[in-house]
Amino acid sequence: MPEVYNWHLGRKMVYVFDEAHPQKQFVAVFNINRCIGCQTCTGTCKATWTFSKGQEAMWWNNVETKPYGGYPQHWDIKILQLLDEAHQAQGKKAEWDAAQTGDAAPYGVYNGLTITEAAGSDQEAIGYLPPDAEWRAPLFYEDTSTAYKGDKLGISTEGATLPEHQTWFFYLQRICNHCTYPACAAACPRKAIYKRPEDGIVLIDQARCRGYRKCVEQCPYKKSMYRGTTRTSEKCVACYPRVEGKDPLSDGVPMETRCMAVCPGKIRLNGLVDIAQDGSWVENPKHPMYYLIKIEKVALPLYPQFGTEPNIYYIPPRWAPRAYLRQMFGPGVDDAIARYAAPSRELLAVLQLFRTTQRMIFRYEVEEGPLVLETEVNGQPWKMYNDTAVGFDAQDREVARLSVVEPIHERPAERLNSI
Ligand code: SF4
Ligand code: SF4
Ligand code: SF4
Repeated sequence: MPEVYNWHLGRKMVYVFDEAHPQKQFVAVFNINRCIGCQTCTGTCKATWTFSKGQEAMWWNNVETKPYGGYPQHWDIKILQLLDEAHQAQGKKAEWDAAQTGDAAPYGVYNGLTITEAAGSDQEAIGYLPPDAEWRAPLFYEDTSTAYKGDKLGISTEGATLPEHQTWFFYLQRICNHCTYPACAAACPRKAIYKRPEDGIVLIDQARCRGYRKCVEQCPYKKSMYRGTTRTSEKCVACYPRVEGKDPLSDGVPMETRCMAVCPGKIRLNGLVDIAQDGSWVENPKHPMYYLIKIEKVALPLYPQFGTEPNIYYIPPRWAPRAYLRQMFGPGVDDAIARYAAPSRELLAVLQLFRTTQRMIFRYEVEEGPLVLETEVNGQPWKMYNDTAVGFDAQDREVARLSVVEPIHERPAERLNSI
């Protein structure tokens, strides 16, 4: 099999197809710390794309409660178990060498097996086909925390403190990752799945698909789903008419997807980044995605060890146990949480841009404001400035302007009671 470079793993890996990259890549950052689990994203995707017969159990966007929840149930535990069995069979360890970092290996080097490397000779990648029952209850274990161990009744008397809560859960927001090396495409015997050269969005050609479900079996994130009424598989389409700027609201420029644009928790920021021929991201420090993912490294890929180079990035939750988070987001977790907990002046400004406009932001500027707070975070001095973040769309028009300190608007006396 050909070898391709996976920068999440900091090394080359085997993949079914030769290395080829789009001109731009659809990317998003989800800030887990801010999610309120309202499922507005989930309902909006369903109302837009999966409201028809045969799609009843199909949730292209879902938000599950970790550590117990999952859609389909226990999807990640099952894949991790298969991966672990493969490591044991080959006498290898799923370890990272976090000391070997560099531009092409920001999280270090993964010395374990990916889902492709762990596969036997009869498979493209390890995987499993979830039975129907596991797709049926997407909110099983919603809001279920780990047990409190300090008291017979399970009631905590001392409360919870950072850096790690003893009793914890968090929401994990999931859509298709529009992976750089999609396992779904690699698995398809009909070559019905393709990655678009213009934006890296991964789509299933419904005319070519024959419903063999190899993509459902081998997508490690279980984001390809089978529809019995059409006997084809379907998946998140990244709301491509909006990304193409063809939505009537978009004014001809790329817009954020439906699930991103509706989020009341303001946890999602979506964009397109420029990709070089070798697959690296073209340097663009004033692009919010490039800044958050490549410069601050505050947002990390989900299960990078699977080896598909997913393109949805997460700011990890501050309160969850670090070992659990390292397994989920790789060795960059500790630094990412430290940077998020005491953000730099620029990071705090860029974080204001989440959900301020439906248009994708391609460039930002920070206008400096006055010092408004001096305090300590984790025993270190920390200062807050009332800077203003300004966002620009694909045509470099200003589309967002947000200050760090929310302005207070007083109602005029004659309208005090009006709504
Ligand atoms: S998340 Fe799954 S369905 Fe989506 S591109 Fe990656 S492998 Fe394919
Ligand atoms: S990007 Fe669009 S299609 Fe994909 S999960 Fe979000 S709303 Fe659904
Ligand atoms: S809409 Fe936003 S806040 Fe609500 S569940 Fe989805 S990601 Fe979380």
